[in-house]
Amino acid sequence: MRIDKAEVIVTSPDRNFVTLKLTTEDGLTGLGDATLNGRELAVVAYLKEHVVPLLLGRDAHRIEDTWQFLYRSAYWRRGPVTMAAVAAVDMALWDLKGKAAGLPVYQLLGGASRQGLLAYGHASGKELPELFDSVREHLDEGYRAIRIQTGVPGLKAIYGIASQSADAGGGEARYDHEPARRGALPVQEDWDTRAYLRHLPGVFEAVRNEFGPEIPLLHDGHHRLTPIQAAKLGKELEPYDLFWLEDCTPAENQESLRLVRQHTTTPLAIGEVFNTIWDFKDLIREQLIDYMRGAVTHMGGITPLKKTMDYAAMYQVKSGFHGPTDISPVGMAAQAHVGLAIHNFGIQEYMQHGAKTNEVFHQSYTWENGLLHPGTKPGLGVELDVDEAGKYPYEQAYLPYNRLADGTIHDW
Ligand SMILES: [Mg+2]
Repeated sequence: MRIDKAEVIVTSPDRNFVTLKLTTEDGLTGLGDATLNGRELAVVAYLKEHVVPLLLGRDAHRIEDTWQFLYRSAYWRRGPVTMAAVAAVDMALWDLKGKAAGLPVYQLLGGASRQGLLAYGHASGKELPELFDSVREHLDEGYRAIRIQTGVPGLKAIYGIASQSADAGGGEARYDHEPARRGALPVQEDWDTRAYLRHLPGVFEAVRNEFGPEIPLLHDGHHRLTPIQAAKLGKELEPYDLFWLEDCTPAENQESLRLVRQHTTTPLAIGEVFNTIWDFKDLIREQLIDYMRGAVTHMGGITPLKKTMDYAAMYQVKSGFHGPTDISPVGMAAQAHVGLAIHNFGIQEYMQHGAKTNEVFHQSYTWENGLLHPGTKPGLGVELDVDEAGKYPYEQAYLPYNRLADGTIHDW
């Protein structure tokens, strides 16, 4: 099963996506997601200039060997650009192996451990009535777990509020929150940690009063707090029984979670910006987190994601893979196969893609009764319509950034 052709396809139906398509000498095709939100073309260049020439003629069956070859032979390891490129190759090889075997990828990973994946949606609103409407819409769509993000009094624009970004992803796309805006420059948002900390516990109290104690509720701090601020927030949110508090502190400083952990029993999730098992190793071994937030696209693919989760299983750490729309349908399918197979699945983030995206990427994963399932087609179960993809050329888009009231740049 030699690799005969390797193409890098860039398309921007509702947002930018980078996809690697491998074709074998027998005409089988495999897809891999290489989308790195806001830095897409760096991965395109990495793949085209430095990876595609290495793939031609290789045996597509040798997934582990190819992964190790790309990771170790580069010498300059890790980092989001490198690992997104390696991830795309890894996913495409699993897709090919599944098609060659006539089996969905989850069968190759050990078979299904559950009927489907509990998935959470993103409810948001600047004010409570708008937030409550958004929660009701998600419940009506079948979500059984919901992330809660709100505005903060005095702040004009902050992370996670859909209404501020309704025009961002392009017209009719059904984004609950799509922060990457098309344009030549990133948009500036504003931030005040003290105002946020004063406001948020009351929001969760109101949501629990309105919707009751059963529904799992999540919240994303988006890396904006110091350890002691995060500890205070976790403690104050305890009465509202969160499923998790995500990215409470900047992820680079992993030691800071020791302090947070000493002060609160609110479950912690972190790691959507991590690239390898090495970023998670100490957090898992010391049980400083409850959920691992890596994404298949940013973690180097299915192979290392499965290994990281098997390691995490020894410490009762569960999965919570990053899954907004910057993970393409190929990436979503890939991590759904992993989630279905592993024992220590926790929850899957699921922000549904827009209509144009769904015309470019023909998916076979299903969403029923609040559960995602990758489908039973051989491979990953996603095909890319090249003609449709060609209608949507790349458009420059950036994630926003934050400034404090005095002009200081802050984590977004
Ligand atoms: Mg997040």
